[in-house]
Amino acid sequence: MNSNSPLDRATCEQVFRRLDDYLDRELSPTERTRVEEHLQFCEMCASEYRFEASFLVQVREKVRRIAAPPEVRSRLLQRIADLTASAPTGFPAE
Ligand SMILES: [Zn+2]
Repeated sequence: MNSNSPLDRATCEQVFRRLDDYLDRELSPTERTRVEEHLQFCEMCASEYRFEASFLVQVREKVRRIAAPPEVRSRLLQRIADLTASAPTGFPAE
C-alpha cells in the first residue's frame, strides 16, 4: 500500500491514539486538522470516532447530573436565572 495514503496504518494508529484528546479539544490546531482530514477518508476511524463521541457525551451528561449536590445545582440555576434576567437580550443558558 502506498505509504502516502491517508488510509495507511500508522496514520490510523495515530488518529486512534489522538481521538480522546481530539474529543477533549486538547490537540494543537495542526493535530486537529490531521485527525479531521483522516476521519473524512477513513470510515474505520470515523465510526470509532462517532462511537467514542456518543459515549463521551452520555458519560458527561451523567456526570453533570450526578456531580453537583442539589443545593449547588439550585444555586447554579438561580445564578443562571439572575444572569439571564439582567442580560439585555437572549443570554444563552449555557
Ligand atoms: Zn483510519
